[in-house]
Amino acid sequence: MKSYLLKYSLIIKQILKIVFMKTQRVGLWLFVATFMVTMQLRAQPRHEGPYSDKEAWSNAQNLVQKMNLEQKVGQMTQISLEFFLKTKDGQPIAPHVLDTPKLKEAIEKYHVGSILNVGAEAQTLANWRGIITEIQHIAMAQALKVPILYGIDAIHGNNYTLGSIMFPQQIAMAASFNPDLVKKAGEVSAYETRASFIPWNFSPVLDLGRMPVWPRIWETFGEDPYLVSVMGDAIISGYQGGNVADKYHVAACLKHFMGYSMPLSGHDRTPAWIPERELREYFLPPFKSAINHGALTVMVNSAEINGIPVHANHHILTDILKGELKFKGFAVSDWQDIEYLWQRHHVAKDNKDAVRIAINAGIDMSMVPVDYSFTKDLIELVKSGDVSESRINDAVTRIVYVKYKLGLFDRQTGHGADYPLFGGKEHQQVNYDVAAQCVTLLKNQHNILPLKKDIKILVTGPSANTMRSLNGGWARVWQGTTSDETEKDKNTILEALQQRLGNQVIYAAGVTFDSASKDGIQAAVDQAKSADVIIFCGGESSYTETPGNINDLTISPPQIQLAQALSTTGKPMVMILTQGRPRIVCAIEPYMQGVLDAFYPGNQGGNVIADILLGKINPSGKLPYTYPRYTNALSNYYHKYTESKEFDVNGGYDPQWEFGYGLSYTTFSYSNLQLSNTTISDNQPLHISVTVKNTGDRTGKETVLVYTSDLVASITPEVKRLRAFKKVELQPSEKQTLHFTISKQDLSFINSNLKPVTEPGDFTLEVGGLKQSFMVK
Ligand code: BGC
Repeated sequence: MKSYLLKYSLIIKQILKIVFMKTQRVGLWLFVATFMVTMQLRAQPRHEGPYSDKEAWSNAQNLVQKMNLEQKVGQMTQISLEFFLKTKDGQPIAPHVLDTPKLKEAIEKYHVGSILNVGAEAQTLANWRGIITEIQHIAMAQALKVPILYGIDAIHGNNYTLGSIMFPQQIAMAASFNPDLVKKAGEVSAYETRASFIPWNFSPVLDLGRMPVWPRIWETFGEDPYLVSVMGDAIISGYQGGNVADKYHVAACLKHFMGYSMPLSGHDRTPAWIPERELREYFLPPFKSAINHGALTVMVNSAEINGIPVHANHHILTDILKGELKFKGFAVSDWQDIEYLWQRHHVAKDNKDAVRIAINAGIDMSMVPVDYSFTKDLIELVKSGDVSESRINDAVTRIVYVKYKLGLFDRQTGHGADYPLFGGKEHQQVNYDVAAQCVTLLKNQHNILPLKKDIKILVTGPSANTMRSLNGGWARVWQGTTSDETEKDKNTILEALQQRLGNQVIYAAGVTFDSASKDGIQAAVDQAKSADVIIFCGGESSYTETPGNINDLTISPPQIQLAQALSTTGKPMVMILTQGRPRIVCAIEPYMQGVLDAFYPGNQGGNVIADILLGKINPSGKLPYTYPRYTNALSNYYHKYTESKEFDVNGGYDPQWEFGYGLSYTTFSYSNLQLSNTTISDNQPLHISVTVKNTGDRTGKETVLVYTSDLVASITPEVKRLRAFKKVELQPSEKQTLHFTISKQDLSFINSNLKPVTEPGDFTLEVGGLKQSFMVK
């Protein structure tokens, strides 16, 4: 819009200049020229480049000074889009249509500062642009001209805009061990989100994925704090870029601060018991790293830790987040979570009490989401002195600061023409490349994979022909239930194989995740007789949050029955798991000669899986979590010595597959592990080198993982911890020497005084099965 205005004003100016020069009417000419220059200034964005933190903060402070209490509290209010949509039979009309008077009331009367989410289902790009333009138009017509901050869950691509790229989910991306690719995925997601005129992404999830029962483990980057930190920083670089104010980047939102992922029961939003030492040792570091990386916003953990709902926890939200971590952005509540302080948690007597507790604890913005209870109660609380005006000023300055950082005061929407790559070939290729490095080969007996040419393949199992098991939740709708309709133009595993192999592929449906009829199983068994190999596609369908709670981590019984029945045919079987969490497969794994864990690999998952089966892609993923063997043995790789088999004689750490495990169609050997020194001290880090060689006959990628073990410490040390990793591609017989550096600080742990320390003593370092000792001085 603005560039058109600029262009036209320049042309008109030129014409007028000629006319007036000729007529010599100097006085009038001067007047018109001044007018046109003013027009040009108005048409130009006031600010082209990034706002420095200082500039954005002081702009925000100035603006907040001009606001009255109602306007300030409005900025702290976030309402869901569904509240402003026209409905039919109680459902938002499709495509969404704004209820303009209702929206005007929100902005004019309640001064609402933020809107989120989608009404019912994904919208077209054009519809999103219309919605956001109308919203911003109303906001900018107000006296103070404060733009609305619109936020959305673009957690694996901008899933709520139809036709956008849907990437592998975070757990799959973590398996790639390739931060460069993850950054690229972040860039594409940011581009496609801004293309919809939305500047704020509720992503990444930096919760630690170490409780495999939890229905959101697939939204995490896995169980290791270091891996989560590296991947978190990478995706934030992609989202926010060098200039978050430009038209291709969005603000990140770190979720869900903190300790959300470890409910004791494994069920979402149920109590967690995490001592502060453990919070600081494992759960805090990814958030700390992301905040140092410039992440602009944080969303708060919906659940309780040690009996205190985090939305009421001053220590976590104010002392740690804003004090210790020096976080300058703002903290938004999760969905309805202030209200839940009284409705669910019973730590507040009513809504007003809940608002008082949450705002005083440090929440800056409330995801209300569908009424003005928060706004009304907070105004009264400030008037009665129960919440100080300085707390309000702090919260609003943080929110307005983020709006400045995003460049929203200068550009609230965008030009459609700036986004020609949206959902196109180039972005689809990035999606394929990312997915190609996520899929993890866990078993390959007798090199069953890649499959031999010209053989007959039986494809069966409940995830063989559904896009839901490839995309998971947050896919056009919250629970991902519509992927089979919305992603019709993408390939399921079956379709991708059929496309490549034609009538070499036989398909047996009949067994779902929840039911298996005798006839369905028998049909698959009969068809298997004419096949050379069985591709068994299992795992899970789509889900997220509480609807995804389960009471048994074991893969569902119909799948076990089908696999058992198929095993009687004697045909070799390969299992492909597309799933959100590592479902226990020990009952059927022995029947399988090959196993691939594809997690939720996204819209290119079917193609990638087919290309891996056929040898076009050499798999290179590695597990970002410990794959458990038994339902009651869920330790992580960084367990304590007392959890090892040596001491826990009837159990002990014995996973199905370890964290970091993943095979390739080629083989690698490690040699020549060298340390620069036998000691490490404050000013003398340890330089490590190791040589990796491709000893097979295909090009392949290997992730080199560097672990250390602290042999004696005042807090029981873990058996090992990941300290560094690098992924390399090697041709057959090629070798490469890789270098790593570890500092004394990298080896620190949180002691009983809650301080990071690196105690002197003996350590071991392990890379690719090679070990060396060193000492900390
Ligand atoms: C989820 C968040 C999400 C928010 C907004 C909540 O239910 O816990 O992860 O960002 O909804 O959709």
